[in-house]
Amino acid sequence: MAGKNPGASVSQLAPFKNERIFPGVDHPTVARAFPGAIAQVRAQLGKTYPLHIDGRDVTTSKTLDSVNPADPDEVVGKVCQAGVAEAEQALTAAQRASLTWRDVAPAERATYLVKAAEVARHRMFELAAWQVLEEGKQWAQAYNDIAEGIDFLEYYAREMVRLGTPQDLGSYDKEGNFYFYQPKGVAVVIAPWNFPFAISCGMCAAAIVAGDTVVFKPSSQSSVVGHHLVEIFREAGLPAGVFNYVPGPGSVIGDYLVDSPKVSLIAFTGSMAVGLRIIERAARTAEDQAYVKKVVCEMGGKNAIILDEEFDEDAVIRDVLYSAFGYQGQKCSACSRLIVTDKAYDRFVPKLVEAAKKLKIGPAEDPQSYMGPVIDRNAQRTIMQYVELAAQEGKLLYQSEVPSKGYYVPLTIAEGITPAHRLAQEEVFGPVLAIMRAKDFEQALEWANSTRFALTGAIFSNNQEHLDRAVRDFRVGNLYLNRSCVGALVKVQPFGGFKMSGVGTKAGGPDYLLHFMDPRSVTRQ
Ligand code: NAP
Repeated sequence: MAGKNPGASVSQLAPFKNERIFPGVDHPTVARAFPGAIAQVRAQLGKTYPLHIDGRDVTTSKTLDSVNPADPDEVVGKVCQAGVAEAEQALTAAQRASLTWRDVAPAERATYLVKAAEVARHRMFELAAWQVLEEGKQWAQAYNDIAEGIDFLEYYAREMVRLGTPQDLGSYDKEGNFYFYQPKGVAVVIAPWNFPFAISCGMCAAAIVAGDTVVFKPSSQSSVVGHHLVEIFREAGLPAGVFNYVPGPGSVIGDYLVDSPKVSLIAFTGSMAVGLRIIERAARTAEDQAYVKKVVCEMGGKNAIILDEEFDEDAVIRDVLYSAFGYQGQKCSACSRLIVTDKAYDRFVPKLVEAAKKLKIGPAEDPQSYMGPVIDRNAQRTIMQYVELAAQEGKLLYQSEVPSKGYYVPLTIAEGITPAHRLAQEEVFGPVLAIMRAKDFEQALEWANSTRFALTGAIFSNNQEHLDRAVRDFRVGNLYLNRSCVGALVKVQPFGGFKMSGVGTKAGGPDYLLHFMDPRSVTRQ
């Protein structure tokens, strides 16, 4: 297969270790590197980004301006837009490349991921700076997103080395048996904007290392960052056609990619509405389709933090604010319901609100800003409707001021919400925290489980019995005891939910790559 083998020997790979998470804005390296990286990125704004199909850059006459949400007059980049014709070209290229890529040894495929991780690590601050400007991510949030992407590359490389070794299943009579995995074929990867590097990188890396070829459609709101994957995989020497980048509106090319008979797997992360649509469409089979499509699907959340009777108040204030308002509440894992038991309520809630009032709101590039803008005008409009709803269904405890320019929405805290309210059931995806007063721990637990989602959750309690009970009965994909409900780390905290939050495939976990392959068993006399 054409393409240069990066040559690193996987047999020498050290055991997986997570990248260091953000060391703080005052850390000397960070304080020096981040402002420089933002300036370096700002000097490159407004470039045009081509599609990448079969190892070649493809330009289109149609482009989309990707803008800085803190200042929509600032165009971050102009992104060429794939239509159905380009989507088809990418699928054809991926299908062709799949015939050779599938036979590249798993350990060799892993070397490309390790090399890509090296490239990303080398560009750490610069890659993070792009997210500060394109997605309004605070320094820490942007840096940790790149670190997570690197973790996915390094972890899945090692996972593939483990899974790529055929297993001896023992013998029966004179028959010997072994078991191995083969790739599925062409994978369509459809990603959200909120973890624009990490999630895209994780889904693409998993497919590539498993031996599938990829047609990657980034979110329209994060297609400049999406292009970083082209740059990284190109520098890693990935052969032509293995990774194809086709930014374009989901409404134009989404169904086309999902419906294609060339596709055997769709890896999707995004909203419940789009995820369910993909699952339904992927279930239909065309006459000329060889594969029953597999859908790896991660969707939304309506995550709760329970505050029991006794807990460490300072830790709770810090972690609840971070879980609810970090990156403006635009995380699938964000806390949007705070369920406080009656005994703790009056003592604690006013302190939380006082602490929230001190948080500064402004552009993400200013490290003093705790909260920045939301992703775009549509998000701003939708979230503002929920802010109004919060005032109707409950009582507003706090609504912050916001800068006049940019896609800001106020940091909002409302109380008086019960499971019957829409604010307790629907994903808001913004900085709106609904506080619910439960009569006791039993009711708090019941309310925590009372939505269609099951993604993350947390409980703060000094009562060991209640913590043990939560482990069994607080039914979410990622549960945290006495800490925030955001910030899962690859390998040590495999991430993903069930119910309407996803199909339970756990990104960054030991079973994830299995979704991208088919097992085969061979018996010999
Ligand atoms: P979204 O609106 O569902 O979009 C996700 C992706 O789907 C985008 O690339 C979008 O393209 C594409 N798309 C839109 N319509 C499509 C169609 N008909 N067929 C195929 N693809 C289509 O979600 P988002 O706003 O980007 O992300 C926020 C959501 O993601 C939240 O619900 C959040 O909870 C969820 N999320 C979940 C996880 C998790 O691990 N569970 C992680 C992160 C985010 P366009 O951008 O071009 O429309």
